[in-house]
Amino acid sequence: MDKQYDTRVLPVTEASLAEAGDWIRRGELVGMPTETVYGLAADALNPEAVSRIFKAKGRPQDNPLIVHISAMEELYPLVKEVPPAALQLAEAFWPGPMTLIFPKADCIPMEVSAGLDTVGIRMPGSLAARQMIAASGRPIAAPSANRSGKPSPTTAEHVLRDMAGRIPLILDGGPCQVGVESSVIDARGPVPVILRPGGITPEMVRSVCGDVRLDEHVMKAAEAGEKVRSPGMKYRHYAPVAKVTILRCGEEEKLASALCRAYDEAEKKGEVPAILGFDGAAYGGRRVLSLGSFHHPEDAAQRLFAALRRLDETDVTHAFCAATEEGGIGLAVMNRMGRAAAFDIVDL
Ligand code: AMP
Ligand code: MG
Repeated sequence: MDKQYDTRVLPVTEASLAEAGDWIRRGELVGMPTETVYGLAADALNPEAVSRIFKAKGRPQDNPLIVHISAMEELYPLVKEVPPAALQLAEAFWPGPMTLIFPKADCIPMEVSAGLDTVGIRMPGSLAARQMIAASGRPIAAPSANRSGKPSPTTAEHVLRDMAGRIPLILDGGPCQVGVESSVIDARGPVPVILRPGGITPEMVRSVCGDVRLDEHVMKAAEAGEKVRSPGMKYRHYAPVAKVTILRCGEEEKLASALCRAYDEAEKKGEVPAILGFDGAAYGGRRVLSLGSFHHPEDAAQRLFAALRRLDETDVTHAFCAATEEGGIGLAVMNRMGRAAAFDIVDL
């Protein structure tokens, strides 16, 4: 694609929000800060604007987009019905890092739903995101603002790196608080199904609806040609240039020494290794990118994508990544880490 824009990055102010709204209404794309990751925003009801998203990202056409709203009343015109469990979850966790699947209304273009008869909708927790949606006066279709296949952006700088010249404006809302994409939940039936784990955890869903299921593709790759309920699950994702191998073990010290051994063996084979590990562990001067505290998977959620992106700025050829615990948001971290590693996971 030709570089068409002199991309500007602006802090979130009344003036920049108004300008973002203008671009959106004109059918252009804007980089939008949210609490999960930065989004690449377009008017969800304008098919031409939406197809620009796919072009700018290099995204496969059969991967649907999430539609973002700024207030509850904006939901109803976009959907055919609001199933009871979905309403319960929306009332409990919106605004927040949760996308719900609804039967789509006819106004949602096929370009957004990628041919499905459903649409994923989210009300972001980030105030800047809701202000930008309100300023545009449109529902906003927004995938993560990375080039397809790359780790999602969690700073405005990441967005600029991937989208410079491709979009006119990025709003800089600072680093994302959650750091991994929203939970995608299909609550059309009585038992909600988590299609993609995120900041709203299975425990939280169960506490509202009494029950919850996890889609089988959350922790494994889809087979070639296999039908999946959440189309994004079949694509290689979040992948840095380096090979990624995950080492998993509940004992922090055992994990650290296994990471060191794997690092040294790789180095002997002529690879350039790095460790994605935890603060306070003993890695003996080896090259380490920190995922924060072993006991706080929120840290790893916030830092994982930035660490994967940082790898691409180095000559590292093989990264050994410490698995987090899978409780809470740890499940989302392991889902993203797993996919960055093409599910190359070694259990110790
Ligand atoms: P991204 O925009 O990169 O956060 O990816 C959005 C993901 O949400 C897609 O890849 C799908 O996996 C999921 N998704 C969006 N809309 C739907 C839908 N209607 N049904 C099932 N999954 C969806
Ligand atoms: Mg994405």
